[in-house]
Amino acid sequence: MKIIYPGTFDPITNGHINLVERALSLFDGIILAVAVNSKKQTKFSIDERVLLAKSALKKYGPKVQVCQFSGLLIDFAKKEGVKAILRGLRAVSDFEYEFQLAAMNKRLQPNIETLFIAPAEQYAYLSSSLVREISELGGDVSQFVPKEVNSALYRIKAINP
Ligand code: ADP
Repeated sequence: MKIIYPGTFDPITNGHINLVERALSLFDGIILAVAVNSKKQTKFSIDERVLLAKSALKKYGPKVQVCQFSGLLIDFAKKEGVKAILRGLRAVSDFEYEFQLAAMNKRLQPNIETLFIAPAEQYAYLSSSLVREISELGGDVSQFVPKEVNSALYRIKAINP
C-alpha cells in the first residue's frame, strides 16, 4: 500500500526526510506531493522545490516518488489510487491546524485516512520557515537540510546578498 505525503516543502528539510524514512518501514511506497498553489508565498519555485526533493530522496529509489499537484489533495490522492495521507506532528502547535485539515479531508473524501507520524526528537523543532529565516540572516543550516538544499540556499544568497 502507498501513502501520499503532501506539503509545501519550501525547502525539504531533514525533518521531512525523517518522516519519509519512518513511513517507508510501514508502506510499500510514498508519493511526496509538492503543492503548487500553496497559500504560502514560497522562497523556491515549484520546479525548484520538486527538484530539491527529488535529489534529496534519490537514495530511497523507486519506492519514493516526488511529484507536484494543484487543486484539492483528496482529488489528487484519488486519482493516484492512494487511500492514506501522511502528515507530521511536531509540537502541540501543529495539532489544531492538522486536526482541522484531517477532519475536512475526511468529510470531503471518507475513504481516505490521514495518518500522523511524529519525527525523531532532534527534528521536533525543525521547520522550513525557520530554515529560511536562519539562512536569510546568515546562519548555517547545514545540519538541518540535505546538502543540495544547503547549496541552493547559498546560491540564492550569492544572487541576492
Ligand atoms: P504545509 O504547508 O502543508 O504545512 P510543510 O512542507 O511545511 O507544508 O509540511 C508538510 C508536512 O510535514 C506537515 O504535516 C508538517 O507538519 C510536516 N513537517 C514539517 N517539518 C517537520 C518536521 N521537522 N518533523 C515532522 N514533520 C514535519
